[in-house]
Amino acid sequence: MAAQDGICTAGDAAARSALIFVGTGCSSSVPNLMCLIQPSDPPCHVCSQALSLPPDQNPNYRCNTSLLIDYCRSDGEHRYVLIDVGKTFREQVLRWFTRYKIPRVDSIILTHEHADAVLGLDDIRAVQPHSSTNDIEPTPIYLTQFAMESIAVKFPYLVQKKLKEGQEVRRVAQLDWKIIEDHCEKPFVASGLQFVPLPVMHGEDYVCLGYLFGEQCRVAYISDVSRFLSSTEHLISKDGGGQLDLLILDTLYKNGSHNVHLCLPQSLEAVKRICPKRALLIGMTHQFDHHKDNESLREWSKREGIPVQLAHDGLRVPLDL
Ligand SMILES: [Zn+2]
Ligand SMILES: [Zn+2]
Repeated sequence: MAAQDGICTAGDAAARSALIFVGTGCSSSVPNLMCLIQPSDPPCHVCSQALSLPPDQNPNYRCNTSLLIDYCRSDGEHRYVLIDVGKTFREQVLRWFTRYKIPRVDSIILTHEHADAVLGLDDIRAVQPHSSTNDIEPTPIYLTQFAMESIAVKFPYLVQKKLKEGQEVRRVAQLDWKIIEDHCEKPFVASGLQFVPLPVMHGEDYVCLGYLFGEQCRVAYISDVSRFLSSTEHLISKDGGGQLDLLILDTLYKNGSHNVHLCLPQSLEAVKRICPKRALLIGMTHQFDHHKDNESLREWSKREGIPVQLAHDGLRVPLDL
């Protein structure tokens, strides 16, 4: 896979960190169910592939956007940091944690509190040690106060500290909620790796967080964005805070525009302005046909001098963090 080449290529491949794209699709994921239950004539090529190809061999099968950072520390120990836990989390664990031998999640970071970023939180208990009395070390989870308040409504039982009088113990995910600020100047450390929050507009009424991380290899992950704040864009731009080794960026539709996400024309404009060494796109709907669209993106990349490709579920990018 082309995306695996040329990113911070120092060090021993076996003892390196890696990014594993466990989800690269939009909120309703791909295939689009309506394309399968009420097929058009001719049927949607991208979605009908889901009926003939197994998901792990189908780059057009896209779960909710989520990134697993396999962070290899200087002592050779691995830590696993998961960004977002969406509606399709269980399916992503089945497919990619098993493929890449990910034994656990050490910490969780949320970009925002929309369904496609948080509705898998209940299933976190399935990747935690079993204790019928919930007597286990809670997994740290980093989120804004705004997201915390929304999750307290969506999952009151995950937030509740003590049992009420007479309430039976029931096994639920054990999470250690850690409030972060939506500000570039307020970095935090998860599992030994520093993250800088990158506030961006996700619709004009909503701030979502991307994250900047990595010292040896500088990576920005921005999964839900319709407009960049100038301070955020400055920090991750070649002409500002320094050139990124890898920009991972939202793109919803191939054409036109959308009120709460970037679409391909705006994503490519942003790539040109930010000018990373390489960019991978995520968050795609069924409008994107992986191999075909990556072919056209290769032409764009040649023309503009910045390699840009669509990521796909299961893509693993080794790099030093
Ligand atoms: Zn479709
Ligand atoms: Zn969202």
